[in-house]
Amino acid sequence: MDTRTNTTLLKQHLIDPAICIRCGACEAACPIQAISHDANNYVVDPSICEKCLACIPVCPTGAIDNWRMVPTARAYALDEQFGWFELPEELTPAQLAEFGAELPDEAAAADEAPQTLAQAEAALAVEPASGDSAPASPAGGYTARTPPWSAAHAYVNLYGARAAHKTVTATCVGNVRVTEVGKQYDTHHIILDFGAMPFPVLEGQSIGVIAPGLDARGQPHFARQYSVASARNGERPGYNNVSLTIKRVLEDYEGNPVRGVASNFMCDLKVGDKVEVIGPFGSTFLMPNHPKSHIVMICTGTGSAPMRAMTEWRRRLRKSGKFDGGRLLLFFGARSKEELPYFGPLLSLPRDFIDLNFAFSRTPGQPKTYVQDRLRERAADLAPLLQDANCYFYVCGLKAMENGVMQALREVAQDAGLDWAELSERLKKEGRLHLETY
Ligand SMILES: Cc1cc2nc3c(=O)[nH]c(=O)nc-3n(C[C@H](O)[C@H](O)[C@H](O)COP(=O)(O)OP(=O)(O)OC[C@H]3O[C@@H](n4cnc5c(N)ncnc54)[C@H](O)[C@@H]3O)c2cc1C
Repeated sequence: MDTRTNTTLLKQHLIDPAICIRCGACEAACPIQAISHDANNYVVDPSICEKCLACIPVCPTGAIDNWRMVPTARAYALDEQFGWFELPEELTPAQLAEFGAELPDEAAAADEAPQTLAQAEAALAVEPASGDSAPASPAGGYTARTPPWSAAHAYVNLYGARAAHKTVTATCVGNVRVTEVGKQYDTHHIILDFGAMPFPVLEGQSIGVIAPGLDARGQPHFARQYSVASARNGERPGYNNVSLTIKRVLEDYEGNPVRGVASNFMCDLKVGDKVEVIGPFGSTFLMPNHPKSHIVMICTGTGSAPMRAMTEWRRRLRKSGKFDGGRLLLFFGARSKEELPYFGPLLSLPRDFIDLNFAFSRTPGQPKTYVQDRLRERAADLAPLLQDANCYFYVCGLKAMENGVMQALREVAQDAGLDWAELSERLKKEGRLHLETY
């Protein structure tokens, strides 16, 4: 626990339990394990949190971005936070004074939460951005907190704890396996129809799925997030439906056997089955809409879902003949082509429409290749795109890919003589680099 006296004030980082969908993204993003959870809530340990802000951009709902000024010695303890159903009210200046706390001046109120990439990197205790090696956990620092300037308006939280409708019931209208049957990775393309209920989504947004039944504490399961894999006008144009790309989780991150609650529920769906859904979520990982805007998509596994959505929307625009699109580059990694969702359909896309770069790490007889290797190979194309204000970069997939991808982009920039610190700050400020990993 913090040892400062009760006359000092702390701007305590808290998670709003009324909005949080318990997706775990903040806990995964925190580089120093300050965030934990029990069966009820995700919480921030005030004695560990260094306010590096790595957790802020990954939160789909904004529940993570809550702060309360408290006397340091009376910071909300973990046990207290675990029991909350909503955040406590702000303490008034009079209440703070009662605790013997000095009232904050402006500088104290700001509490030194880092705002720039350089500060975030420093707070993460990583190599400076201009250094030669990649930062240990760069995503929180590099990802943009604003969408591209030409992104369409994204609706969020239409269904959920705080909305008029707590959930919307969708119907499964399709479920097909999109990785080769018989191989280890079982990934499904699932289509949900919302019937008469409005559920507007954009490419890059996600939805929350609440699996039926109760968890170990006898409570309804927390929602799990899944990226939308279809274009904004529906998996089938003009229909009120979305598609998802879901990998059946049968092992935890350490390789121990488990049976993931929501992913198995979803992969087992039959046509006609009902699913409780919340959302939509996400207002920054959105595609540009202006003509000749280029998109570089870098993904592994189910991280292909938002890339499929963006590609499909651009394909439909191209087909209409009414949109002058820019370049599309896809860097897609998997262990083998059999484990790469949508491999067949991707190959059938015209090469003058999309520039495909696959990387397979476990093809027998072939050297291991990762997406970052492909990025380095394409440095001559990527360096100008990094500098092009009309080019937007998206990274999605397993958390483990983040560092390698960021290191490769940094090398591409530096080898072209670019100042990575300045460039990465600009990419972030202009909403041109978006990371979503889980
Ligand atoms: C923004 C966002 C978008 C996402 N989009 C997708 C998507 O498009 N497709 C998709 O399949 N998933 C996606 N996920 C992951 C998804 O939300 C679930 O975490 C995942 O399906 C596991 O949920 P579960 O209920 O099956 O497993 P749980 O019952 O929650 O977990 C079971 C065990 O597996 C571990 N585990 C959890 N997730 C994984 C994983 N991905 N790989 C290996 N072990 C895991 C847990 O630590 C736990 O030990 C996304 C997550 C986020 C935050």
